[in-house]
Amino acid sequence: MGNPHILAIPYPAQGHVIPLMELSHSLTKHGFKITFVNTDFNHKRVTDAFAHKVSGEGLIHLVSIPDGMEVGEDRNHLGKLTEGINQVMPGELKELIEKINRLEDDEITCVIADVNMGWALEVAAELGIPGAAFWPASALVLAFLFSTEKLIEDEVIDENGTPINKEKMIQLHPNTPAMHPKTILWVCLGDLTTQKTVFEYARTYTKAIAKAEWLICNTTFDLEPGALSLVPEFLPIGPVSATGQLRDLPGSFWPEDATCLKWLDQQPPGSVLYVAFGSFTIFDPIQFQELASGPGAINRPFLWVVRPDITEGTEPDALYPNGFKERVASRGRMVGWAPQRAVLAHPSIGCFLSHCGWNSTVEGVSNGVPFLCWPYFADQFVNESYICDIWKIGLNFKRDERKIITREEISRKVEQLIKDESFKARTLKLKELVMNSVSEGGSSDRIFKNFIKWIKS
Ligand code: UDP
Repeated sequence: MGNPHILAIPYPAQGHVIPLMELSHSLTKHGFKITFVNTDFNHKRVTDAFAHKVSGEGLIHLVSIPDGMEVGEDRNHLGKLTEGINQVMPGELKELIEKINRLEDDEITCVIADVNMGWALEVAAELGIPGAAFWPASALVLAFLFSTEKLIEDEVIDENGTPINKEKMIQLHPNTPAMHPKTILWVCLGDLTTQKTVFEYARTYTKAIAKAEWLICNTTFDLEPGALSLVPEFLPIGPVSATGQLRDLPGSFWPEDATCLKWLDQQPPGSVLYVAFGSFTIFDPIQFQELASGPGAINRPFLWVVRPDITEGTEPDALYPNGFKERVASRGRMVGWAPQRAVLAHPSIGCFLSHCGWNSTVEGVSNGVPFLCWPYFADQFVNESYICDIWKIGLNFKRDERKIITREEISRKVEQLIKDESFKARTLKLKELVMNSVSEGGSSDRIFKNFIKWIKS
């Protein structure tokens, strides 16, 4: 028998594709061949972004299947995306696996599916292939998904997933952040129909992954002891970004502008404010202008990621305040998409103004970078609470009566965070724990090695 051949299938969102790609890359170091299945839509984005590097050779083979949506339809509409996935992807995946097994010498011997693609494990089971589920976000959010039936029974949510008391915080364990009902994954996604569709989907895939022999999570005991104690089947092997390659993995949907790394080389250690909001966050024009005035008003270097689609209705270029471009020229740098893992690992970075997506959170932590938290939706509020209330490695912002975070508030908090050295000290302590867990013999490393043994067997 040849080397194991793994098929890895992420949920089609940036914060899911990157960590599964990192995990896949770590697996190739053990000699495994990976077939990485994006949706056609994301496959094009990834291969366009990495056009100069994707050679089609090597141990990670990029392939794609349709997502059930039409060309030009809005993939950020999660209700429609969910329906599309449900309708076509299981059949397409089955066909793909059968084709690979018919035509290639080395058959697929294992499927690793994102928890959100739990149906892929049913396809694998049908074909007699063992499967593992991978969860790229916090164990707390997964524990919440696993508690759905109990939450219905306890009348916290109804049969459609709608919170019964709209204000009562939900706390699963004394050592984990409490969750506001409006930040429940499906509740924050749009109208009631979308919420119901996504809730039903989540309920079904949570049941499907119960069939998985392994349920591995992108976290560690050091970060989430409370949440991990709730569901002992969750096996933390992360953060995967802490062990992987920092750059040049074909996972980003936008081309990484690596010129900012050279600019960072010229900045003093610990001086730069890095501002990035992940792949989804969208700003209204007033908040965007206030944000643009913030880093500009601070007397320190800043690197700001402005995705081309970050503003609502108006192009970012039309919104910059007077004098902003001059301030960028004198002490700032702006990019459309950064090589974020490499940026956060750079010694010049002093703090991270972040939307607190889980990947950004663990990437900041494993590089010892303190946070300014600006959550936008979903689990980002829980992650903010981990950062500010549980780990105490960052600060959050107060909004004014218009619900806007002002430039004064931004510059005040940046200075407070950098001047109060206790934040940096605690962040470095947490970094050490996290890095120990992924190093030889650490808890995440041991679980990962057992996982590899299982794949080989
Ligand atoms: N990212 C990046 N370049 C950027 C901004 C983000 O490579 O300029 C990466 C980041 O390192 C992380 C992912 O995109 O791995 C975003 O995931 P996260 O969970 O933080 O946020 P999401 O996009 O899912 O809201």
